[in-house]
Amino acid sequence: MKALVAAPLHKDALRMLQEAGFEVVYEEYPPEDKLLKLIEDVDVVFVRSKPLITAAVISRGSKLKAIARAGVGLDNIDVKAAEARGIKVFSAPEAPTVSVAELTIGLMLAVVRKIAYADRKMREGKWVKKEAEGIELRGKILGVVGFGRIGREVARIAKKGFGMKVIYYDIARADPKLEEELEATYVDLETLLKKADVVSIHVPLTPETKHLINESRLKLMKSSAVLINTSRGGVVDTNALVKALNEGWIAGAGLDVFEEEPLPQNHPLTKLDNVVLTPHIGASTEEAQERAGLEVVKKVIEFFGLTKK
Ligand code: NAD
Repeated sequence: MKALVAAPLHKDALRMLQEAGFEVVYEEYPPEDKLLKLIEDVDVVFVRSKPLITAAVISRGSKLKAIARAGVGLDNIDVKAAEARGIKVFSAPEAPTVSVAELTIGLMLAVVRKIAYADRKMREGKWVKKEAEGIELRGKILGVVGFGRIGREVARIAKKGFGMKVIYYDIARADPKLEEELEATYVDLETLLKKADVVSIHVPLTPETKHLINESRLKLMKSSAVLINTSRGGVVDTNALVKALNEGWIAGAGLDVFEEEPLPQNHPLTKLDNVVLTPHIGASTEEAQERAGLEVVKKVIEFFGLTKK
């Protein structure tokens, strides 16, 4: 059995794969022409949010039986093309939840307390005590858009750790028990945007959520509110967001994900003091990577009917 590991995989997961008897070909993020060659000869391919596993790549994999995503979010994999050929797609949806939720809270604090701004100014030798005045989170309204694994974890930390009030919007309403535990109120998107002091986005990127946060929706937000996006860049219309931040429709933003990644150099977002930017590091923790790697490798080993030696 042969596995192409086309993205970094936690060392323990890699060892488990080899111990189960897989011959491992390791090629980190191969360009498409190389991937098209490598895929011809393998039974399973392991990826993260890259490389792209297109219909063309899938059709070249004549021996391919499984695609394993060490993490969550299948937007780089043509799942329909895989299913049409009976190829199984595995992922580790639970693995990054805590890490992404904690980064979300970090961005929230960094924006409302102007931590990144203050740090930048300190390094320039400027003591911006007055300009860096912020606001507290306690008692503020957190609006969670997409109340799934990560959205709920953010709500839990915000409610239990910071005493924020939680409102949420989702296509599906949560269990009443969870609503009660988190004192979370279900509202429509318009109400959420009008009421929240912090809007945090946690929906997947789908045709329905593409530019869900657009110019007219940004205009609904309070001028004192901040937007946090650790989901996918395409959920927010970047041009509209830049306008909103420049013209003061909202007070700030914390972003881990972008429509174009890596974010181009000198992008307008990098010129704004009221924005905190991180390079898609939501799941980049030792713990999340270990969980993601081990979870998908276990699923793959089970699928091929192999056991760890
Ligand atoms: P999840 O599937 O558990 O939750 C997503 C929620 O969004 C669900 O409750 C679903 O009902 C809701 N939803 C779907 N379409 C919707 C729509 N059109 N309108 C309103 N609600 C809708 O997913 P999750 O594990 O919580 O992940 C959430 C997001 O975080 C995903 O976009 C994922 O790609 C992203 N993510 C980012 C990182 C990172 O590194 N920043 C890491 C992992 C996941």
